Amino acid sequence: MICTWQIWETTAGLKAISSGKYLYFNCGFLNIHIGGENMIDELLKGILIHAYNTVSFYKESYDEAGINPEGFCSTEDFHRVPLVTKNDVQLYSDKFFSSDYAYYPKRDDIIVTCTSGSTGRLLKLNWSKQDIVRAQFNLWKVRMRVYGVHPKSKFFSFHSVTYGGNKAIEAPEIIIDDMGRHMSVSRVLKDEKYLEKYYGYMMDFGPEWIMTMPSTMYLLARFISDNGLTSPKTLKYIELSGEYLFDRQREKIRETFNVPVANMYGSEETNGIAIECRSGHMHCMGDNVYVEILKDGNPARYGEEGDVYVTSLTNTAMPFIRYSQGDRAILYPPETCSCGNQNPVIKVSAGRIGQNVLIEGREPLGSFVFCYAFEVINRYMKYPVLQFQVIQETMKRFTVRLVIRKSFEGWKDAIQTEFIGQMEKLGLSNLDWQFDYENNIMPSPVSGKLQFFVNKVEVNI
Ligand SMILES: [Zn+2]
Repeated sequence: MICTWQIWETTAGLKAISSGKYLYFNCGFLNIHIGGENMIDELLKGILIHAYNTVSFYKESYDEAGINPEGFCSTEDFHRVPLVTKNDVQLYSDKFFSSDYAYYPKRDDIIVTCTSGSTGRLLKLNWSKQDIVRAQFNLWKVRMRVYGVHPKSKFFSFHSVTYGGNKAIEAPEIIIDDMGRHMSVSRVLKDEKYLEKYYGYMMDFGPEWIMTMPSTMYLLARFISDNGLTSPKTLKYIELSGEYLFDRQREKIRETFNVPVANMYGSEETNGIAIECRSGHMHCMGDNVYVEILKDGNPARYGEEGDVYVTSLTNTAMPFIRYSQGDRAILYPPETCSCGNQNPVIKVSAGRIGQNVLIEGREPLGSFVFCYAFEVINRYMKYPVLQFQVIQETMKRFTVRLVIRKSFEGWKDAIQTEFIGQMEKLGLSNLDWQFDYENNIMPSPVSGKLQFFVNKVEVNI
């Protein structure tokens, strides 16, 4: 069957895409699919063709599998597309870059970042500035319609690594940008004095919304309630992402700040994947990503837990197609939520428990400090670390498992010294750090999950 498609854009912003028997409307966050259940989404097909034509990794891999996305019509065709792991991206990172962006002027639009995600595997990522705006747009539609904040609203956040040009730089304590509309403070909280100071900055600034990780927001909420302080009167909304959100954290944050708290599931590779509605359901962002749950490599049924695979519909500089997100989740069918958003609902499993580092006599410390340390080491030392995992064995003893590039075999002492230096800044250098070098760090045989931080002391926050 030959697939044809057209796009109309009306003054009301309503788009309609016709594809054979399939009709797709997009009106804000409301996606309505009519008929042709098995027809492939045209946005999805478009990015597959782009990847095949301009990205050498996909060209080679699809040729080897004997597939050509130009001829794809059904979701069955899509299910023949080879899966991509973080390991593939790490080993062949240059082969994931689209030739569309190889030359000036498009080359100058590329922003390079580094991410460790939840699995501790460090990846170098490329996004074009236009694609970031398109990816963010999908998130903004929800923030504006559901939570009443817009891109010009005053916004408070926490940062770890920051980028100057395309280089990671040490995180300054406070950043104010976007013409004074955005304030960000360092997420690396050395002690309670910093919470007090950052609380003061936040109150003076008067944000309309805050975005950060649950563990950071929880610490701030506890600080406010323990000290009988007030929250900003200007605040309308809090968005949490980057870690599993525990009910206890959510309740504490909502009770302290008295505004809607939404969970956002996303990744550096794809940007927003799903965001929570007022009814508490995480709806996938169908305009930005195509989400699949696979069990043993095959599509899982609705309601069945499996591995999360995402296809970015907006990242054209470094396409991610059927990419293993490293998380486990359950997908529920569309049209089950009272909010009216008919995108499927995803429930991400608690795969990141034990996310806090526990040190005697101190507030729990978010384990992202290890990501930060290795991201800085990689930037300074030209990417020696491929993968890491930190295990807290006791309150004082830690094992740091490392996979490093072969060419850095002679640099182990330097990597350790740099790591201890990073820990010293957090007041953690007096702990017992044991380093183990390995060829690969595999997911836990018990849970099937790969986590960059494992806390054997206590799994509850
Ligand atoms: Zn909903």
